[in-house]
Amino acid sequence: MKKIASFQVDHNKLKKGMYISRIDGDIITYDIRMKEPNKGDYVSNGALHTFEHLFATYARNSKFKGSVIYIGPMGCRTGFYMLLRDDISYKKAIDLAYNSFKFICEFEGEIPGAKEMECGNYIEHDLEGAKLVAEDMLDILKNWNEEKMIYEK
Ligand SMILES: [Zn+2]
Repeated sequence: MKKIASFQVDHNKLKKGMYISRIDGDIITYDIRMKEPNKGDYVSNGALHTFEHLFATYARNSKFKGSVIYIGPMGCRTGFYMLLRDDISYKKAIDLAYNSFKFICEFEGEIPGAKEMECGNYIEHDLEGAKLVAEDMLDILKNWNEEKMIYEK
C-alpha cells in the first residue's frame, strides 16, 4: 500500500502550529499541532477527549458551522485534525481555531455531550487539562498566518 500524505510529513521538523495537511476537492484538512512529535510530552487522553467535545461544540455552533466537516483528535495525541470546506479562507480557519480555543479556555460548567448516554467514555474527561492545552495554543495561534501554514520541507 502507498504511504498516505500525512505520513510523508517530516515529523522531526514539525512544531506547534496550524498547517494545511491536505486538500481533497473542496475539503481542506488542517493539522492543528499542539505538541511537538516524539518529544515525550503528549495531550492526556482525558484532556484530548474534553477538548474534542468543546472544540466540536463551539465550531459547529459558530458562524462557520456550515463549513465544518469534521473535528477530531490525532491518535498520537499531539493534535487535532479539522476538516473544513474551502468556502472559508485560511485566515478565517485560523480565526475559527483561535476562537474555539478561547472558548475552551473560558469554559465553565458541564461539558457538553458528556453524559453516559451521549459519550463513549463519559468518565474520561479532564477540563482543566483541556484548558491548559487551549491556553498554550492561543499563544501560538495569535501570531499565526497563511504563510506559516505550509509544512516545512
Ligand atoms: Zn465523548
